[in-house]
Amino acid sequence: ARRAALAAGTGPGRTSDGHGVDLLVNLGGAEDLTVIGAVGPAGVGLLRTEFLFLDRPDEPGLAEQREAYLRVFAAFGGRKVVVRTLDAGADKPLRFVTAPDEPNPALGVRGLRTARRAPGLLDRQLAAIAAAAEGSEAKVWVMAPMVSTPAEAAAFRARARAAGLAVAGVMVEVPAAALRASAVAAACDFLSIGTNDLAQYAFAADRMAGGLADLLDPWQPALLDLVRLAADGAGAAGKPVGVCGEAASDPLLALVLVGLGVTSLSMAPIALPAVRASLARHTLAHCRRLAAAALAAPDGQGARYAVAALAADQE
Ligand code: PEP
Ligand code: MG
Repeated sequence: ARRAALAAGTGPGRTSDGHGVDLLVNLGGAEDLTVIGAVGPAGVGLLRTEFLFLDRPDEPGLAEQREAYLRVFAAFGGRKVVVRTLDAGADKPLRFVTAPDEPNPALGVRGLRTARRAPGLLDRQLAAIAAAAEGSEAKVWVMAPMVSTPAEAAAFRARARAAGLAVAGVMVEVPAAALRASAVAAACDFLSIGTNDLAQYAFAADRMAGGLADLLDPWQPALLDLVRLAADGAGAAGKPVGVCGEAASDPLLALVLVGLGVTSLSMAPIALPAVRASLARHTLAHCRRLAAAALAAPDGQGARYAVAALAADQE
């Protein structure tokens, strides 16, 4: 098993029996892109674009946006780069578009909902992404944050297509989207599960509240139930489904996510080698057994212990 892990090196992610899982990185914009290449990602699973918009009085222009996206695309050659459109509001307020007086910002006009108030902002961003994609080799996908319904997914894809972007998917961060995942997936090109917000909304627990960490634990079986629903729904619609929340960076939980049917994992670059090595030590059938054990546990702590014990046994 140790040899398999070492042999996993920097190649593509796969289980010990050869089931492929795309291992991608999450980027926030200001990283050193040459260092990230060293962990051998299959591409970028989540490019958070807020870095371009936060802490400034107005919207960056098309040329400035295009240049920033192009810089990332160029660093990833012919690989996949999933660009998330602006996730404004709640924990990421924008001076020029987020209302300062929302009584409940996490449940307010945030993520894709911002396009209700400022549709031009999204269209200009999509145009800038499309312009950058044209000038690069990267396979550029776009995705929208905070999507709740199939209609929102369909509307987002229509706007992306109108801008010239062929692949458009949505994040599953709201329980309603997980519950109706097959219809949401049918309305767009792929799903990407954001476990940070999905945990927040499933447990009605503010993700910024340190005192609620036990509820926000990504090992919580109720959260894993929603991941399973999202993966099953995407599978039924014949669409890929990734995880790009913090859950994907835990080498043990990554096995559970793969066992639940997730087809790609996107994480902080530093976490990628350990996740790759962990996958290389287990078969897909192992991963499915670990997923079943996690779902059968009473709580997050129980799921973690059950999976750790079983995984050690299986190696
Ligand atoms: C998430 O919610 O899991 C996610 C990946 O998005 P962010 O952390 O940027 O809200
Ligand atoms: Mg989120």
